[in-house]
Amino acid sequence: MKKIWLEKLHSNIGQFIKINKIIYKKKTKYQKICIVNNKKLGNILILDNIIQTTEFDEFIYHEMICLIPIFSHPKPQKILIIGGGDGGCLKQIIKFKQIKSITLVEIDKKIISCSKKYLFKIHKNSFNDIRIKIIHDDGIKFLKQNNKKFDLIIIDGTDPIGPGKKLFTKKFYYNCQKSLSKNGIIVTQSGTILQIKQTIKNLKKIKKIFKHTGLYQSSIPTYYGGNMFFMWASQKINLKKINKNELSNKINLYKFKYYNLIIHINSFALPQFIIKKIN
Ligand code: SAM
Repeated sequence: MKKIWLEKLHSNIGQFIKINKIIYKKKTKYQKICIVNNKKLGNILILDNIIQTTEFDEFIYHEMICLIPIFSHPKPQKILIIGGGDGGCLKQIIKFKQIKSITLVEIDKKIISCSKKYLFKIHKNSFNDIRIKIIHDDGIKFLKQNNKKFDLIIIDGTDPIGPGKKLFTKKFYYNCQKSLSKNGIIVTQSGTILQIKQTIKNLKKIKKIFKHTGLYQSSIPTYYGGNMFFMWASQKINLKKINKNELSNKINLYKFKYYNLIIHINSFALPQFIIKKIN
């Protein structure tokens, strides 16, 4: 009988996954890491009992968290990823030859080693790109002492529990702002509609620090609770101001699995009740 596993993100509702095989299991000083296989979703990375990413639909999340800021920035060259130890963001970012440096700050080195071994379909060996520098550190600590400027900061962390909790604080957003270049943009994963209260709270915090802020969304099947929100912020660039022709010409140079011009534009459309809460 295959083991049934229940995700523990929400106390009263959740999703279960039939585990075909347990591939890796380890408790590190930061979190409980588990990689399992499911017949439909392929290999799945689970941290502290919460699904992080699956081979089946990781491309949607990683394209949406990386490509919207990349195509919104006039000339992204220096990228910082906080978290992202599964390599899914790296796979998207290395597609852009004009990007000069990619710094990935991952708190748990075990995530990188087990992702390299068991999540090849997610990273496709993108860790080997010579532009990438991996730093094993807490993203909070790194940004506090960082004096470099980045064009994009992608916060590809866990949910606001465990080591990812402090990635949703005003202090952290302020340190992000200090580390951004003139046209810099930050994007962070911001939970689904079931966590919208937390998202709105985070947005109110970040609004105090950045001139332009907002949300965009995308539907990612394995994140229980409907669309996943991404929170963005920038001092100079309003991501909602889109020059369609310019954007289309840039996107047409590449091939993606999920992302395209209409997806980009429509992802900024938000439900009325959220617009009301934000304003
Ligand atoms: N890419 C995934 C997805 O599709 O949702 C997001 C999960 S990614 C594996 C989250 C990573 O953030 C984990 O590897 C975790 O170790 C890392 N992380 C959590 N808190 C962190 C912190 N404070 N500093 C650096 N990395 C952190």
